[in-house]
Amino acid sequence: MLYDNHGREMTYLRLAVTDRCNLRCFYCMPEEGIHYMPEKQLLTWEEMLRIVQQLYVLGLRKVRITGGEPLLRQGIMEFLEELSRLEGLEVCLTSNGVLLEKHIPKLKDYGIRSINLSLDSLDRKRFHQITRRDDFDVVYSAMLRLIEADFKVKINAVVMDGKNEQDILTLAQLTEQYPISVRFIEEMPFNGSGKGSAILNWDFSKIVDHLKSHFGNMQPMAVTYGETALRYQIPGFKGDVGVIAAFSRTFCGTCNRIRLTAMGEVKTCLYDDGVFDLKSFIRQGVSDEEIRQTFITLFGSRPKDGFEAEKNRKGIINESMTSIGG
Ligand code: SAM
Repeated sequence: MLYDNHGREMTYLRLAVTDRCNLRCFYCMPEEGIHYMPEKQLLTWEEMLRIVQQLYVLGLRKVRITGGEPLLRQGIMEFLEELSRLEGLEVCLTSNGVLLEKHIPKLKDYGIRSINLSLDSLDRKRFHQITRRDDFDVVYSAMLRLIEADFKVKINAVVMDGKNEQDILTLAQLTEQYPISVRFIEEMPFNGSGKGSAILNWDFSKIVDHLKSHFGNMQPMAVTYGETALRYQIPGFKGDVGVIAAFSRTFCGTCNRIRLTAMGEVKTCLYDDGVFDLKSFIRQGVSDEEIRQTFITLFGSRPKDGFEAEKNRKGIINESMTSIGG
């Protein structure tokens, strides 16, 4: 089993399989996109599979495939099929939903049960303003198909001051009719500009207060180990709502996440600037044992929380979330 130096079990990998995206969400990257890495600088599917297999030996229980938009990279479905062969490993996907619908039957065949869908607004015009693309209808339709197909669906919505606060209640209202989780995320500075984000006017407590002022006595739900969302159920509703204090960083104490960027950089915390170039290491021809030992060593000196990790960075935060994976 892989533990960090604070006694936290490291059982969950977030694997960014590409840095490319077909949306241009303004809180994530500039309109013209970021400088995408040439394909050969990304990990290959074989390299990614090998890394997952080594972490599986070390007790990995869950892998979330993210990006960029994972469904954009050719070979993704074959990769998911390979992962589904690792018995007992929960394989999850995070997607913006644009290319999702046609893949739903296969995802189900591969045993994928949980999908996170990013959706910041239920208003077509605001969706377009936020994402700089006119894809609301296909994303909403994909959400409905996922629910019909019995997937565990989590909607992720970043709350942005002056941009989509009017969507908080309408998104939460979805949980009346549908058995889904709608999670509101504090905006983080990973927007590719190096300028940080606007002042965090909508922090987790303001979002919770806003929901409570409208929905009344929301019932707090039990927190499971490693969970980042504070979740509530609105009485009589089928789903639940959650708030993720991604900027306030209130949940680091139970963080069980290993992050691997599309370029093959290991992150022991979302807020660090990458602690190890695993891609170059692997390409030197190292053994499986050396890969496992590397993870043990890296997580043996992990900052205790996201504030310490940010302090240890060599420079300011200038990355886009599309190259980290969220
Ligand atoms: N393309 C996939 C998607 O849209 O879900 C996966 C990658 S995306 C980078 C992963 C998550 O990061 C999304 O839910 C997105 O909203 C979130 N995200 C991106 N930039 C963010 C920021 N600056 N603050 C908070 N969340 C952010």
